[in-house]
Amino acid sequence: NQFAGKVALVTGASSGIGKATALQYAREGAKVVVSDINEEKGTQVVEEIERQGGDAIFVKADVAKPEDCENMVKKAAAEYGRLDIAFNNAGIGGEANPVGDMSIEGWNTVIAVNLSSVFYCMKYQIQQMLQNGGGAIVNNSSILGQVGFANSAAYVASKHGVVGLTKNGAVEYSAKGIRVNAVGPAFIKTPLLSDAGMNEESFQMLSGLHPIGRLGESEEVAELVVWLSSDKASFVTGAYYAVDGAYLAR
Ligand code: NAD
Repeated sequence: NQFAGKVALVTGASSGIGKATALQYAREGAKVVVSDINEEKGTQVVEEIERQGGDAIFVKADVAKPEDCENMVKKAAAEYGRLDIAFNNAGIGGEANPVGDMSIEGWNTVIAVNLSSVFYCMKYQIQQMLQNGGGAIVNNSSILGQVGFANSAAYVASKHGVVGLTKNGAVEYSAKGIRVNAVGPAFIKTPLLSDAGMNEESFQMLSGLHPIGRLGESEEVAELVVWLSSDKASFVTGAYYAVDGAYLAR
């Protein structure tokens, strides 16, 4: 119970990596603010945490809206009195096209949901964490925060941007007790991949890009996020950690 007495907030917590992380935070004793645009699935995550003896609330938020991000942090503080940990995870794949064919709208949507959202969340989380004596923020980037991938320019740019925001947050707030880090998962088996129209053949192709020979599981990303959120990572800040089956190593 390394997070006993701590309050953790997760965006995009209704599914995939966010859900797995919310469940692990709760298992380690944190009170969890489960936030997502999908209320039905988010409520189910809260119920699952409660069944396991944990404490959680659901707060509906569209992270592309600054007022929703502000409200999410306010609700956390109103319910639990503080905010110690935040995992800024919500994100989408978006339009698949080469740069020359990408629509302006497709670009703007991905930048809003994947990048501006992390700025909004960090802004309000940092204000609250400063009030309660510090905290730890983990942002979900991607291997595509380090390298390109065809037909994914907006996604790749947004995830590189998340790494930049992470570094700046760490430079500005590490001495004030707030650590900020980013994780870089490779391809993880979540609805984000299946919703992108992946069939068995494309799963095989994707698996082959990982020297470990398979895709990752959400729980394997959550393990790293939990560690970075914990006091065990007390000197780790401003860093990008891949969790990628050696995708970036070759
Ligand atoms: P997922 O689709 O399973 O979960 C994403 C969650 O975010 C969903 O519950 C969805 O409702 C929510 N969401 C979407 N738009 C939102 C918005 N505007 N406001 C609030 N919530 C919103 O996907 P996942 O694979 O678990 O992805 C989580 C994060 O991990 C994303 O940022 C994604 O880019 C990143 N990531 C995923 C992979 C992968 O292969 N699955 C790899 C690297 C990084």
